[in-house]
Amino acid sequence: MRVKSLEISGFKSFAKKSVFDFGAAITSIVGPNGSGKSNVAEALRFVLGEQSLKSMRGKRTEDLIFNGSKSAERQNRAKVTIIFDNRDRTFPVDFDEVAIAREIHRDASSEYFLNGSSVRLKDVIELLSAVHIGASGHHIISQGEADRILNSSPKDRRAMIEDALGLKVYHWRIAESEKKLVKTEENMRQSESLRREIAPHIKFLKKQVEKVEQARSLRDELTGLYDEYLKREEAYLKHTREAQKIERETLEGELHTTNEELERAEALRGARHTESTEANELLRVRGELGNIRRERDELARKIGRLEGMIEMEERRLNAPVESQDKMISARESESMAQELFTELGYAESSEDYLYIKGVVSRTRTRIGQFLEHLRGDAGVSARSEEARHAIDGLKGEREALVVAQRDLEVKSMQLEAQARELEKALEAKRAETSDAERASFELRSKKQELTLRLSMLRDHAENFAREEVAFREELREGGILVGRTILDYVNFPLDVEQALTESRAEQEARRKKIERTKIRLEDIMGGGSGEEIMREYEEAVARDEFLAKELQDLEASAESLRALMRELEETLNGQFKEGISKINKQFSEFFALMFGGGTASLQVSYEKKRKRSDTDIAEGPDETEGEESEEGIEVSIALPHKKIRGLQMLSGGERALTSIALLFAVSQVNPPPFLVLDETDAALDEANSRKYGDMIENLAKYSQLVVITHNRETMSRAGIIYGVTMGSDAISKLLSIKFDEAAQLAK
Ligand code: ATP
Repeated sequence: MRVKSLEISGFKSFAKKSVFDFGAAITSIVGPNGSGKSNVAEALRFVLGEQSLKSMRGKRTEDLIFNGSKSAERQNRAKVTIIFDNRDRTFPVDFDEVAIAREIHRDASSEYFLNGSSVRLKDVIELLSAVHIGASGHHIISQGEADRILNSSPKDRRAMIEDALGLKVYHWRIAESEKKLVKTEENMRQSESLRREIAPHIKFLKKQVEKVEQARSLRDELTGLYDEYLKREEAYLKHTREAQKIERETLEGELHTTNEELERAEALRGARHTESTEANELLRVRGELGNIRRERDELARKIGRLEGMIEMEERRLNAPVESQDKMISARESESMAQELFTELGYAESSEDYLYIKGVVSRTRTRIGQFLEHLRGDAGVSARSEEARHAIDGLKGEREALVVAQRDLEVKSMQLEAQARELEKALEAKRAETSDAERASFELRSKKQELTLRLSMLRDHAENFAREEVAFREELREGGILVGRTILDYVNFPLDVEQALTESRAEQEARRKKIERTKIRLEDIMGGGSGEEIMREYEEAVARDEFLAKELQDLEASAESLRALMRELEETLNGQFKEGISKINKQFSEFFALMFGGGTASLQVSYEKKRKRSDTDIAEGPDETEGEESEEGIEVSIALPHKKIRGLQMLSGGERALTSIALLFAVSQVNPPPFLVLDETDAALDEANSRKYGDMIENLAKYSQLVVITHNRETMSRAGIIYGVTMGSDAISKLLSIKFDEAAQLAK
């Protein structure tokens, strides 16, 4: 890779386009003071991305644009293009030529171009850093800046050396890693803060979720309780329904039968009224029998009397006549009167005509006899005749009574038989009636009992209906709480037979337990749906896990960034130390060469931490350097034959020589692609100018050199010499010249 040319247009004093071709290892630019030579070095700095206006001797961007002169218009833009030969592909782009251009305008806008395409400063810096051309410009030594390295602080010196050694890339990488680390740590803080923010929410949700889970397990428990309860209840209800139906039907059947039986029994009891017919008949028969018996007794008595009268008549018939006494005793009269009184009394109460007629007939006879007796005896024969006649009459009468008596006897026997029949019938009827009464009583009480039981059954049925309603209600309420799974109770394994023997109290206990569980469940569930809380919790946890994972990843990447930074630091330090020792070797040699002896070396020193920022234009990503280093560089020298130790004790020339020795040592160790030396040789005497000339020639083997000089010796080493002149128009002009012309021009 080689710098082919430089085109300057509108930049500082180069108002018109000027092109430098760097076709030789050493190109020299010569010209009078103020002609614009240093502007060429600055144009190089400018196009390579220099951000420090100060290092280009400007205060504002427009100071870099041709400001016009008495005879020339000022320019509105400055453009510098540097063209590299890239046939060796040192630049990692597939072009034989790489043209980097930078253009600025008066409004301070700045543009970069790579082979004509607009690019960012960053791209330019990256491209150049690949070929060890840093924007710090260690390879462009401005006028009077040669000993800058000696004047700088140890820390800045170290930065310059690092840059020259091509180690800046490590700083960039470290800075980049640091930036990434800062960003990563910021992200970590954000993630941590987000996690902290959501933590209470997660905690809250977790509690809710615990509640939901508790509710779920309670619901499961409730479902289990319901399964058994409902299955048992259903079995109970079914059984009870059937049992009540059967009982009702049985009771109703029984009641019906009882009613029928009772009706029959009542009918039997009603038959008592017909009993009186028999009783009346019996009474009648008994009354008739009594009459017949009295009649018979009367007949017996009449027969007895008739027989007494027959006996008396017969005695009278058979008694002697002379003894007959006409006198009738009082006793006889009373006896006859008593007989008649009694006889007529019977006749009076009898309705029997024959009997009454008989009594009248006998009464007349008795009275006739009595009168006869009183009139005296009209003849015994008449009387005897009369007596026989009376006896016959009496006997006839007795016979008639005996016949009547026999009739009565027959009739009485008949009536007695009839009465016995009637009594028997009556007795039988009475017995029957009391059975019916007992049965009626029993049936009535049975009916009463059945009616009572039926009404109790109705009460039970009412209660049962309530239980059935309660069952459906329970099913509905349960459904709301545990969902459709409640219907799975039908699958609950239950020994129905056994279950029905259980007391209702146990089922009631189950119901109470369900009630308690329901209350607890409702209490826990409060409002909000469990699903929603679960989802929200899962989302929050997922988010937290994501953040935790992110944090972990960030931590890992922070750690790998730290490791990378450590590694870069180590490499940097290693290469730095290695570079320093290489530089020291060269530095000593160049120093001894320039001073004809003596020693010089760089030493690593330790400084306190501090920050630095050396950029003036805020543009692009690398404008600030926040790098911290505890190590600086000290320069130790020992001049031959002199006891000078400190740099400040050196003469101007000595300082220039030391600077050049160090500059060349550094350039030798890590040769830059090109090196611009703006009057670095200004302070050298003739002898040293030669040595300087030798050194640049040697250096030119490794790096392309552009030397701005007034020194003939230096000019003599150049392959191409450009003369820069400035006329009255105050515009720098370029001319390629021969050495002699150059020597002339440089004066
Ligand atoms: P010396 O040999 O004394 O070091 P030199 O050749 O290096 O001089 P420079 O310092 O490069 O000269 O050029 C300085 C000249 O450039 C000055 O004359 C200055 O007026 C001119 N110059 C600087 N900036 C501008 C600008 N923006 N517009 C026009 N001219 C400018």
